[in-house]
Amino acid sequence: MAETLLKVERLSVNYGAIKAVRSVDFHVNRGEIVTLIGANGAGKSTILRTISGLEKVVAGNISLNNLVLNHMSSERRVRSGIVQVPEGRRVFPGMTVQENLQLGAYTISRKSQNKTAYESVYEQFPILKDRRNQDAATLSGGEQQMLAIGRALMAQPKMILLDEPSMGLAPLYIQKIFDIIQKIRDTGVTVLVIEQNANQALKIADRGYVLEGGRIIATGTGDALLASNDVREAYLGG
Ligand code: ATP
Repeated sequence: MAETLLKVERLSVNYGAIKAVRSVDFHVNRGEIVTLIGANGAGKSTILRTISGLEKVVAGNISLNNLVLNHMSSERRVRSGIVQVPEGRRVFPGMTVQENLQLGAYTISRKSQNKTAYESVYEQFPILKDRRNQDAATLSGGEQQMLAIGRALMAQPKMILLDEPSMGLAPLYIQKIFDIIQKIRDTGVTVLVIEQNANQALKIADRGYVLEGGRIIATGTGDALLASNDVREAYLGG
């Protein structure tokens, strides 16, 4: 039986009078890659930001492993095992690669655990190890995205939330980032990813949800959504 890790029930989120997310239900099982796709303004980022604690739940429920997150601080959510990689790969440009990674480990107190986290991130991203003493500003866009993902993994999460990881990257790096997402899952970390690049995201996803106007209008396996005429016409360029 699949074990539900993240459960979102009847979630609604507003910005003043704007109803950005309207009674949304979805879940992510342990070990899955799940993607939320949809046009600009569909509510994808808002859902991710609400799961991380950056926006307020107006109604509904978010739980991780049966632990209700609704009113928890962002830091406690990270400690509970869920970490977001922000959109636009926000790394600290004037700090070295290693210093950026260290910031991701702020919830880890044990030295031995910290060492394991570095080893694991450097093993997954050898380029970051090579560049560990360079300022993050000197990395390419794709390398900065790897650093942002590596920083999230430093907290040794159960689950990571990725906000448009392929945005603005050169084609070569886009493929690389999707390969990396699969590798992360293979190490046992569950993944929720939102993407404009629906085609690529559905190819690597176990399941997906299609959002429109703050509501989920379709769901299925990645393959089924890729094969659906409605989804193809609306989101995959026909
Ligand atoms: P995009 O890919 O363009 O970010 P999205 O699917 O992630 O799209 P959201 O960013 O979640 O969509 O936006 C959902 C709705 O909420 C949109 O109508 C958007 O204009 C509105 N919205 C988002 N952020 C804010 C904000 N800070 N204040 C007011 N309205 C907002």
